[in-house]
Amino acid sequence: GSVWLNFDIQPSAHPVSETERTAKLADPGFGRVFTDHMAIVRYDQAKGWYGARVESRANFPLDPATAVLHYAQEIFEGLKAYKRADGGVNLFRPDANARRFRDSADRMAMAQLPEPVFIEAIEQLVRIDRAWIPGGDGSLYLRPFMIASEVFLGVKPSAEYIFAVIASPVGSYFKGGPAPVSIWVSENYTRAAIGGTGSVKCGGNYAASLRAQAEAIAHGCDQVVFLDAIERRYIEELGGMNVFFVFDDGSLSTPPLGTILPGITRDSIIALARQAGRTVREEAYTIEQWRADAASGKLKEAFACGTAAVISPIGTVRSASGDFTINGGVAGEVAMGLRKQLVDIQYGRAEDKHGWIRDV
Ligand code: PMP
Repeated sequence: GSVWLNFDIQPSAHPVSETERTAKLADPGFGRVFTDHMAIVRYDQAKGWYGARVESRANFPLDPATAVLHYAQEIFEGLKAYKRADGGVNLFRPDANARRFRDSADRMAMAQLPEPVFIEAIEQLVRIDRAWIPGGDGSLYLRPFMIASEVFLGVKPSAEYIFAVIASPVGSYFKGGPAPVSIWVSENYTRAAIGGTGSVKCGGNYAASLRAQAEAIAHGCDQVVFLDAIERRYIEELGGMNVFFVFDDGSLSTPPLGTILPGITRDSIIALARQAGRTVREEAYTIEQWRADAASGKLKEAFACGTAAVISPIGTVRSASGDFTINGGVAGEVAMGLRKQLVDIQYGRAEDKHGWIRDV
């Protein structure tokens, strides 16, 4: 133990009653139900990291001139805690989220939280709010984030930050099994440029994606898929998920890192597929090729992946230049097989050969 790891634990004096919690956990949906506590660590350029604590979840009092409210110096992460059949709790690759959070902080000129502090904050919150982890195929979604908290209107990196973790119980993403999603190819909007912030998890990326996502919904699609910002033809990723293609020779491909978010689910799928003897290419793939391969039968499946839904088969692709269907619009067996493998590791039903699980 470093001194940073000494979180001051202040249990809430007014936690939600067991009856109310049970009612909320029966159908939590996504992102609207929260646990009793939050973890906080502060940063000041002069003092460094300080004030680590776990306390009752509460509002942040923010001066109207707080930097984050003006220049969006903000980053976040998303990961889950899963309840095992034996009653224990698994975190999935929190070290990977800790590293990505540091990378995001670096890109956004923010203070870099030491990885052990990031993990400790999550573990302490999971321990105190353990009763909020749904059973069955639900999970506790953890949202670490950091905001620029200096009160100053100048455009410069903040000298003060607040790091916090909140938690939200979530139900099974798909009631009755994963249904294939329809996606809209955004030809008007792009998500990321070379040298921009596409590869980090800053709130601004999501603000800029909302208009494109709204366009997807207006066209009857579930999600938007973005193309590269230069040629407007290479597939990048969805608004909140990475994408994979499965070919008739059993190989997989996924867009290369650079302007996309380096998804932890993406990385895990690459490892699992390679371990199963499949070829996985991290390779640029155009929308025209995707359409042609779907028509010729060379492309067997396509799926999106991320922490929230794990793997979602893609059934239909729509764009201003026409629609096409993949695998007859039904879930493919490669996607479903990988999904089961991942979910079984997360819930502790399969051996953790890669050292991905952290027992809390
Ligand atoms: N791309 C984007 C833009 C995302 O927001 C996410 C969700 N974090 C992902 C991909 C998937 O990343 P992960 O597998 O780490 O959840």
